[in-house]
Amino acid sequence: MSARRFMVNSRTIRDGYASFDGDIYNHMVRVLRLGTGDAVQLADEKGTVHFGTINQVAKEWVAVKIISSCPVAQSDSVAPRITICQALPKGDKIDLILQKGTELGAHDFWLFGGRRSVAKIRDDQQKNKLERWNRITADAARQCGRTDIPEVTWRPSAVEASNDTGQELRLILWEGEREHSLKDALSAGGKPLSVIVAIGPEGGFDPLEVRHFSQHGFQPVSLGSRILRTETASIAILSIIQYIWGEM
Ligand code: SAH
Repeated sequence: MSARRFMVNSRTIRDGYASFDGDIYNHMVRVLRLGTGDAVQLADEKGTVHFGTINQVAKEWVAVKIISSCPVAQSDSVAPRITICQALPKGDKIDLILQKGTELGAHDFWLFGGRRSVAKIRDDQQKNKLERWNRITADAARQCGRTDIPEVTWRPSAVEASNDTGQELRLILWEGEREHSLKDALSAGGKPLSVIVAIGPEGGFDPLEVRHFSQHGFQPVSLGSRILRTETASIAILSIIQYIWGEM
């Protein structure tokens, strides 16, 4: 069940905390019997929803620690959470993928070193790269009016990228797939809560990688007979999923 939502005045929220007495205190603590650690949503008059947890309950007041805030429209978004699992492309193409993907509503990005990725990330470069990539999604989010910022994380290879995936629908866009189309995969079930899509680098996927992903429940799908550039593939898949299951 999602956290209860309370209508509050934005002035009650300061420095990442909100505290309430009177009616809201009564409602939260006395009526709903919420206590320390319970999740709540605070919707303010400016159209922002603040997600937080109760961190202190006193005799006449209750304090909430805010964890994140975003516009109501987005927190109510109907689209599935889409993770783009992208093999590192050449040069600054990744900037485009992160920027356009953020505009198109990607929930987060998992970048990984593909066997055929020409670009390599050394361990000592990782921190700087991640900072830069996360700045790109933060800037793009601001530009397009998103206040939730897609997180960019790094995985060394397809092995790590295919592991620990809890997403309900898992797809690998594979240029070698002949039979199973994206349309088949998307029309097979109802709207999932979360989707992860693996996309190869310029050189495509190595069959070993396709096997790794398949073993972890990723369905190989084709986008048709034309070969798209890796950045086009990610923009296309996000647009298609948003159109079918989102609010485009
Ligand atoms: N060099 C490869 C193509 C790689 S395209 C070749 O010539 O076969 C880069 C990535 O985009 C692919 O790994 C895949 O994830 C995605 N992609 C591009 N076109 C595709 C298509 N028609 N079907 C499925 N995936 C595609």
